[in-house]
Amino acid sequence: MSLEIITVPCLSDNYAFIARDQETGVTALVDVPEAAPILAELDARGWGLDLILLTHHHDDHIQGVPEVIAKTNAKVVGAKADAHRLPKLDMALNEGDSINIGASEGVVLDVSGHTIGHIAFHFAKAKTIFTADSLMALGCGRLFEGSFAQMWESLSKMAVLDPDTLVCSGHEYTAANGRFAMSVEPENTDLQTRVKEIASANAKDVPTVPSLLSLELATNPFLRPHSPEIRVNLNMQDASDADVFAEIRRRKDNF
Ligand code: ZN
Ligand code: FE
Repeated sequence: MSLEIITVPCLSDNYAFIARDQETGVTALVDVPEAAPILAELDARGWGLDLILLTHHHDDHIQGVPEVIAKTNAKVVGAKADAHRLPKLDMALNEGDSINIGASEGVVLDVSGHTIGHIAFHFAKAKTIFTADSLMALGCGRLFEGSFAQMWESLSKMAVLDPDTLVCSGHEYTAANGRFAMSVEPENTDLQTRVKEIASANAKDVPTVPSLLSLELATNPFLRPHSPEIRVNLNMQDASDADVFAEIRRRKDNF
């Protein structure tokens, strides 16, 4: 693996990620919910920080930026479309633009839905994607700004990546997501197994994030509108995947 990923729990249920390119030692941080635990992690490893990658404008993903850039020389990277509501960007990116961490080559995906202008950072060779509040462990972000169709388009872009891709998402919401997933696809044996694993991880205070895309494809209801069981339970056997996705998202909002 060319990127070493450190998961940093922040605030009550957020995750930031430190990603270090093993060939060059160039180190990036994805999202900054708060500075202290991130600076402590960098200090403990004796690592500097070169880049801060921001996924979207919500406070719980950016509020630690001023304190982290005061203590490091990190350059801030984010979506051009969101430059007006992000901390000052040194590099403003559009979908398809490349973003490298040393020798690890990445590309920006527009994954709007949770917010308009939410981006993900995909490192194909390192088989890692930083998705924050778009595709999440057993879930997807609530639609604060985008439409159902936009979120479905965003999830569809990620669903076709290499199934061995590590999905680094922004929150520890997995147990609650599992209760919802079981309400729409209770006979899914992969899901049943995952829900048990989540309970034991929670009991030991071990993060359930990141997760493998293959596991999300097998268990995450928001990637499974094609599932015959879900379609029967929603009484939507003949609907489009996009419409079934929208109904799953609506039900989650009211769960
Ligand atoms: Zn958010
Ligand atoms: Fe968030």
